[in-house]
Amino acid sequence: MKIGVYFKDELSESELSTLLITKINEYGFEFDNENPDVLIYIGGDGTLLRAINQQIDKLDNLLFVGINQGALGFYYDYNVDELDLLFKSLQEESFHINNYSLIEADMEGETIYALNEIRFENPFHTLIVDVLVDDEFLETFRGNGLSIASSLGSTAYNKSLGGAVILPDIETLQLTEIAPINNRVYRSLNSPLVISNSHSIKLVGNFNEAVIGFDHLTRKEEVKEVTVKLSDKKVSIIQKRNYSDIAKIKKAFAL
Ligand code: NAD
Repeated sequence: MKIGVYFKDELSESELSTLLITKINEYGFEFDNENPDVLIYIGGDGTLLRAINQQIDKLDNLLFVGINQGALGFYYDYNVDELDLLFKSLQEESFHINNYSLIEADMEGETIYALNEIRFENPFHTLIVDVLVDDEFLETFRGNGLSIASSLGSTAYNKSLGGAVILPDIETLQLTEIAPINNRVYRSLNSPLVISNSHSIKLVGNFNEAVIGFDHLTRKEEVKEVTVKLSDKKVSIIQKRNYSDIAKIKKAFAL
């Protein structure tokens, strides 16, 4: 088994990277950062988002596993003092693999991917977009923006927007509004909308001044139509045997 190591800021010569490479050899694995079978990511939640982005064309044959060094560590199962536990479970193959679909947005021929959410935000002028579920018109949205999150991403930006927390074993997309305008002239649903993985959301409007955010990345695009759905591309993350989504939520949000 070939194992790679990913830090947010390249592979540094930190004490931890040296220790990890020593352990990789000690447990009989091969250190390979070019074509790993398992990629160990170390840092905060943003590190996994960056590692996925870097490996976007190799996801089919790659397992991710996280060692937490960040503040929240939602995407991490192992702590720095559990390296032996991790390597033993890799040796014995005694771990769970959870597969999560990425979100994909087709922007007139170009596709972008995200694990947490794709956002369309215009902080300068009212964003006006028609929202269609599949090809059925739902509403004309006016406001600062819209976010479309996966179940796994429901605890991230989506939660700050008042969206529901959805356990990641249900594949959904959740549309939430950012500062919607609702008065006697303009109306939007003004509530999160959750759809299953068989549906897509189409946004039609003028995105000229909008920032399109996908996980940690942003860009500006002069597109008029964007279709967002769950992708066939999946991310496979190694989890400890006694993994519990509820325990993770309790820990992350200090319940
Ligand atoms: P970052 O790594 O500093 O992440 C920002 C915060 O989001 C951190 O506290 C991180 O632990 C948390 N987070 C990320 N994914 C999460 C998840 N699935 N569940 C629970 N918490 C999660 O910043 P970044 O590297 O730019 O990461 C991008 C992500 O940050 C975006 O995908 C977005 O969801 C999140 N974000 C949240 C807000 C907000 O809540 N107001 C604003 C901007 C970005």
